[in-house]
Amino acid sequence: MAPDGQILAPNVYDAEPIPAAARSEIERLLSSGDLFRYTSEGSPVAMLEEEFADLMGSRYALAVASCSAALFLSLKALDLPRGARVLIPAFTFAAVPSAVVHADMVPVLVEVGTNYRVDMADFAAKLDGADAVLISHMRGHTSDMDAIMALCDARNIPVIEDAAHSLGTEWHGRKIGTIGRVGCFSFQSYKLVNAGEGGILITDDPEVAARAVIMSGAYESNWKKHPGMQNSYMLWQNKLPLYNMRMQNLSAAVIRPQLPEIADRVTKGRAGHDSVADRLNESPWLVVPPPLGPEERAPDSIQFNLKGDWTDAEALRFQSRSKSRGVAVQIFGLSDGNARAFWNWEFLGPQPDLPQTRAMLMRACDVRLPTRLTPDELHFIAEAIVSAAEDVKG
Ligand SMILES: *Cc1c(COP(=O)(O)O)cnc(C)c1O
Repeated sequence: MAPDGQILAPNVYDAEPIPAAARSEIERLLSSGDLFRYTSEGSPVAMLEEEFADLMGSRYALAVASCSAALFLSLKALDLPRGARVLIPAFTFAAVPSAVVHADMVPVLVEVGTNYRVDMADFAAKLDGADAVLISHMRGHTSDMDAIMALCDARNIPVIEDAAHSLGTEWHGRKIGTIGRVGCFSFQSYKLVNAGEGGILITDDPEVAARAVIMSGAYESNWKKHPGMQNSYMLWQNKLPLYNMRMQNLSAAVIRPQLPEIADRVTKGRAGHDSVADRLNESPWLVVPPPLGPEERAPDSIQFNLKGDWTDAEALRFQSRSKSRGVAVQIFGLSDGNARAFWNWEFLGPQPDLPQTRAMLMRACDVRLPTRLTPDELHFIAEAIVSAAEDVKG
C-alpha cells in the first residue's frame, strides 16, 4: 500500500511464503547432510508420500522432481508399446506433449471449447486408436470426467490426470487426481504448494506404483523403503530402466508444512476468483465461463474470454491498456511464443489444425490470482481489467 493509503498494483508473480515450520527441519537436514531420500528410513520424502496419499485418500504416492517427471513416469508405468498414441487436450502447457514425446509416445491433440475444457465430440471421435488418455485439467478447469471415464472404461483405455493445477479441486465431491488410473501434481512455484520445483503422482494400482517407483530411481533394493507391494517390486527389479527423477529431502521439507495450509488456500483462492469473476461478468465485453455442474474449483488464476466481436488489434490494445493500469493480462494466442498455444509446439512436427482451440486461444485471457491477495488487491485487479475493456470497446 502507498503512504496515502492508495492500493498499488499487486505483484502477482511473487510466490507463496514458506511456513516458518520448514526452517528447523531444513536446518536439521543441512547439519546432518541427510539430503538423499534413500539414506534413512522414514526420510522427509517418504513422510511426504505417506501424508500426501492420506490427504488424497490414495493407496500409493511417489514424490519426484517435477510434475513433468510424474507424467513421464505415469506413461512409462502403463507399460504401453513405443509409439503408443496418447490423447491430450490441445490447450495445455508445453510440458505435457513434451512428457508424451519423452516417453516415446505420440500425442494426439483434442479440441478444447471456449470453456477451456475438452470438447467431448472431438474426444469421442479420436478415441478409437488411442492407447492412453492424458487429461490435463489446464489452469484447474476440469473436463467432463464422467463422460471421459465412461468412454475410456468401455474401451479399457487408461486415463492419467494432469492435476498440476488442480490440487483441491473436486468433481462430485471426489478429489481431482483420484479419478483416473494415475494423478500427477506439481509443486513448482506458481502452483498452490510452492517448493520451487517438485511433483508427485498418486495411484491405487500396485503394478503402476511399483513400476513408477523403480523407474524413478529406486535402484537395487531401495524399493524396500516404499510401503507394500513387495511382490510387484520383485517382478520389476532390473527389468526397467532407472530414469533417476527422485525428489530430495530439502524439497519435502519445504512442502510438508504447506500441506495443512491447502484447505485454507483453496477456500481463499475460490472466494477471490469468484469475486473477480462476478465483476468481470458485469462487463458487456468480458465473460468468465462457469464451472461444470459437478465441479468445485480451486483456482489461483482467472481465465476469461473477450466477448462479442474483437479484432486482434483491439485485443492487443486491451492487453496493453490493462498493463498500463497495473495488471498483466496474457491473451494466450496473442503473446509471442506462448508455451500454452499448440502452434508453438514445433517439436511435435506438423499437426492438423484445431480451429476451435485456436479461436479460443486468440480471445482467452489469463491473469494470476495468488491466494494470498487481499480483497482490496482483488478489487484493484478486477477494476483495472473492466476499465481496460471499456477503454477499447466503450
Ligand atoms: C505447471 C504445469 C505442468 C508442469 O509442471 P512441472 O512441475 O513444472 O513439470 C504440467 N501441466 C500443467 C497443467 C501445469 O500447470
